[in-house]
Amino acid sequence: MPDDLLKGIDRSWAAADPAALVPGHAARQAELEGLDPALAGLYARGAGVLAGAPDAAALHERTVALLGRERGVVTRALAGLPELPLEERKRRGRGLNLLKRWLEELERAKRAELERAAESREVLDVTLPGRRPWVGRAHVLAQVRDELLDLFHGLGYSVYTSPEVESEEYNFARLNFAPDHPARDAQDTYFVAPGVVLRTHTSPGWVRAMEERRPPLRLVFPGRVYRAEQVDASHMDQFHQLDGLCVDRDVSLADLKSTLNTFARSIYGAGVRTRLVPVYFPFVEPGAQLDVACAICDGSGRARSAAGEGRCPVCKGSGWSELLGAGMVHPNVLRAVGYDPEEVTGFAFGMGLERIAMARHGIPEIRLFLENDVRFLNQF
Ligand SMILES: [Zn+2]
Repeated sequence: MPDDLLKGIDRSWAAADPAALVPGHAARQAELEGLDPALAGLYARGAGVLAGAPDAAALHERTVALLGRERGVVTRALAGLPELPLEERKRRGRGLNLLKRWLEELERAKRAELERAAESREVLDVTLPGRRPWVGRAHVLAQVRDELLDLFHGLGYSVYTSPEVESEEYNFARLNFAPDHPARDAQDTYFVAPGVVLRTHTSPGWVRAMEERRPPLRLVFPGRVYRAEQVDASHMDQFHQLDGLCVDRDVSLADLKSTLNTFARSIYGAGVRTRLVPVYFPFVEPGAQLDVACAICDGSGRARSAAGEGRCPVCKGSGWSELLGAGMVHPNVLRAVGYDPEEVTGFAFGMGLERIAMARHGIPEIRLFLENDVRFLNQF
């Protein structure tokens, strides 16, 4: 009968030593030898193929062949018991029950071993290439803005935001623009309704802040502004500004100059050379622009290229590049919000964030900022 039963176990199945899975294996084997040598052979072969199963599917197949309820080797052996003489039937019955229990135990131990191995392969397969997690970041303009806000925060300024859709009154009139100023023309400014514009600068925020608060004021006004520009490499019809405003007793042009120099050094380094050049803006008197010595030609206006020495292409030969506009707040602007220009004075400045980012990173094209191309954005 054992030979017949062994036919249920595929000859090609590889076996392994079950002793590592079940410490008492040798003793069990010996116990069956003493009880029923035929069953001892079946047990040795069955335990060997369970221990040698290479994976979970093979283990399942082998378990069904040995212990399956209908066609399993052990089931068939138990079914043959009634044909045996009484003494042999008792002996074999007891042996088969032991064999069945021990093979089941071995199957559980092997299954656990395969599961542990699969888990450790998942966790520890050091041969797989790494997957770099995708990390987002702030837009280059947001980086520049945050750096500037941090700088001005250190100088005692806080942030004030005002609407992007603004009345013509706040955008122009209260900032001392004459009624016939060309900026009020529809060619330069987006009108969304009669008397309502997309703000052309962040300066209306000064007026709103001064109406709400009494001096002293130290505020910065970051935000998006709109102008009806022809779009080209250096002009967009929307861009970002950061205005600053300081109003107090005895605020002078010297305070403005020292503030702007502190700012320029933080952007361009301690060795930067600056100059203030008189410029007209309606809302400041006197008005000025802050220039920095050209970073390419170091202020000489001349630069070497493959074609020899010639006019610097960045500053177009002037040796300077414009960084921002500034000035002392016009007395008319102070009067319009109910401040007394005899009592308080103020300075203000405004800069374009795109211009600063372009100068710092050598970005040649303003449209890149809004195109959302990650090949561009990932560089900063
Ligand atoms: Zn230059």
